[in-house]
Amino acid sequence: MRVLLVEDDTSLGDTISEWLKMDGYAVDWVTRGDLADTALLTHTYDCVLLDRGLPKLSGDAVLKKMRDRKSTTPVLFITARDAVSDRIAGLDAGADDYLIKPFDLDELSARIRAALRRHHQNPDAMLSYGGIKINPKTKQVWQNETPITTTAKEFAVLYALMLAQGRPQSRAQLEETLYGWGEEIGSNAVEVYIHHLRRKLGADRIVTVRPSGYVIAP
Ligand code: CA
Repeated sequence: MRVLLVEDDTSLGDTISEWLKMDGYAVDWVTRGDLADTALLTHTYDCVLLDRGLPKLSGDAVLKKMRDRKSTTPVLFITARDAVSDRIAGLDAGADDYLIKPFDLDELSARIRAALRRHHQNPDAMLSYGGIKINPKTKQVWQNETPITTTAKEFAVLYALMLAQGRPQSRAQLEETLYGWGEEIGSNAVEVYIHHLRRKLGADRIVTVRPSGYVIAP
């Protein structure tokens, strides 16, 4: 899962970014609205955490541009503005949720998971497909009710394939869910995680789709 964090308060941005990485997300962090807009035009994100008061382009303007482009990516406003009228204006502008600073980091994680579930129209916390079941909250995996242990990166790959529910995911798409900017990507990192997952789940559980995609066998 790849998250775009837009926050010009560097100490808060640093805290949120480190927290989300520990929580298993790939995080890109920008401190200006115009840079957020560029990032959104050039990358695919699963969720956007958007401050409202930003240099160059406001959070509200970034969101308006997204929704004008018909982007449905979930957006959570993170803001110090707490007047009810502000909150309503934010939600009316197309934000999916709203967090008032200062907020609890566990709550931030829960709100992101909720936004992702709503976005993927899966009200259940558990995802289940092809005999595999995963709990995104606890990062537990079962295959035919047998628990399977995965590393954070293996889980991230499996989660992306599970969310796709039978739609092939390209290597580039999987890399995007695994890594933020500036993080080194091993040239065959995705293949390595797929290899590990096949060893744990069974070689036939993840099918290679030519030229370079993967899908979970139904
Ligand atoms: Ca700000």
